[in-house]
Amino acid sequence: MQWLEQLDWDKQQGLLPAIVQDADTLQVLMLGYMDRDALRTTRETGRVTFFSRSRQRLWTKGESSGNVLELVSLDVDCDGDTLLVQARPRGPTCHLGRPSCFPDAPADFLAGLDRLVARRERERPPGSYTTSLFESGTRRIAQKVGEEGVETALAAVAQDGQALAGEGADLLYHLLVLLHARGLSLADVEAVLRERHRG
Ligand code: AMP
Ligand code: ZN
Ligand code: ZN
Ligand code: ZN
Repeated sequence: MQWLEQLDWDKQQGLLPAIVQDADTLQVLMLGYMDRDALRTTRETGRVTFFSRSRQRLWTKGESSGNVLELVSLDVDCDGDTLLVQARPRGPTCHLGRPSCFPDAPADFLAGLDRLVARRERERPPGSYTTSLFESGTRRIAQKVGEEGVETALAAVAQDGQALAGEGADLLYHLLVLLHARGLSLADVEAVLRERHRG
């Protein structure tokens, strides 16, 4: 990353504000400060590390709570004095137990649901409808997607907007489960859409 050399370290006594964003939902998670050492540590370990102004030392987010931020990408703003960090949080980022330090920070809901479905598949918690879908097998999930597709189409033809929204929600949710049952995710579908958009 050649921009690393062009950062404006002098503006704020060797510290740059670093905005941390969830790489999947794009939700803003927190703001921290990095000095050169923190930035180097972040890149070398893949764990987001700040300079703690209150403790006056290097601070790897999650070092005591375990709620680390796994680095996905680093970017810099137009005039080199602010960092944008994309990360995957392992647990709540805020020490109050919330995903974001900003209580109402907007997030891409579908991307969050996609991640929840992935977790259900991994952990299979008893009593979860998503778990029972995964246990019923891919054929059954595929059948559900077919049914919800038909119900969506019927609602649209019946000009019932409320039913269409409901059936569309059923369809999207079951599609997410089907994708995960086949080792795919929303990101794979999005990649295809993005590709077609360019073409
Ligand atoms: P952690 O880095 O998650 O192990 O937390 C260690 C300590 O850092 C906590 O007890 C808090 O005092 C502080 N802390 C943790 N997360 C945040 C955050 N997102 N923003 C500000 N301070 C935090
Ligand atoms: Zn700037
Ligand atoms: Zn917080
Ligand atoms: Zn339905």
